[in-house]
Amino acid sequence: MFTADEPERPPSFQLLAARKNANAGDDWQWARMEWIGNDEAGGCLIEGGVPNIDHKGRARWTGVALEKVFVTAAQERMQRELYRQQTGKCDHCAGSAQQHAGWSHDAGNKYAPCKPCGATGKPGHELSINKA
Ligand SMILES: [Zn+2]
Repeated sequence: MFTADEPERPPSFQLLAARKNANAGDDWQWARMEWIGNDEAGGCLIEGGVPNIDHKGRARWTGVALEKVFVTAAQERMQRELYRQQTGKCDHCAGSAQQHAGWSHDAGNKYAPCKPCGATGKPGHELSINKA
């Protein structure tokens, strides 16, 4: 069901923005995430912290003080833009030209040609930090 040649997936841009807002490093993980609103004023309320890792490598939150961080839609877009500038890859498919298109019990992860980049794997030009 799970194959080693799954296409590369981009990082969670909400998580990257949350780490920045929390002034935290790569060991900061989200425990809970809640979407608030669905427009420009909306965003993502993320509760997270630095979990304990058990012997199987799983995050364990018992006894960990959680911090609430709000990530706005604009902050998430900024992380996407940084990713595209730094990697030269499409932020939807991580350059693989394949976009995650759901999961089923039988087939596992399903992928489809990435629409935002036209299956080129290169960043689109629909938005830019440098735009005046
Ligand atoms: Zn793409």
